[in-house]
Amino acid sequence: MKGILRSLITVTRNTFKRPVTVLYPHDRIMVPYNSRGSIQLMVDPDTRKILCDGCGQCEKSCPLKLISIEVDINNKKLKSFYIDISRCMFCGFCEEACTKKALKMSFNYELTEKDFSALKYDIKKLTKHARPKLRKFWKT
Ligand code: SF4
Ligand code: SF4
Repeated sequence: MKGILRSLITVTRNTFKRPVTVLYPHDRIMVPYNSRGSIQLMVDPDTRKILCDGCGQCEKSCPLKLISIEVDINNKKLKSFYIDISRCMFCGFCEEACTKKALKMSFNYELTEKDFSALKYDIKKLTKHARPKLRKFWKT
């Protein structure tokens, strides 16, 4: 009897409480400050050059081996940089390993693509959101 009464009180109390969930994607909430979304390669805001020098520290630190980097030895320039976002667990180890602050986790979590292969991010895709900009505050 006590249990039933307690459940009734809980149900009644929760009926008049504001819901903690939202009807996504119709309603959106603000992304917490230290959220980890898709990865981006940072560019120098003045020169527009990629900060990454291809040292490979992030490649070594990824537990799932999702990062592959190729460097042109003659020009000492970054040739290719790929991250397989489809398997990424957003642990942030790659960001921590980068001493040049050239790799950052963004706030973007909407990563769906029609084509699965589009989730293998190349330099173009990794620098797409790298422009210095204010964080987007969403409507509640
Ligand atoms: S650790 Fe940083 S600088 Fe080195 S390859 Fe990765 S992103 Fe580039
Ligand atoms: S966030 Fe983690 S799993 Fe994803 S690429 Fe970086 S180190 Fe690998």
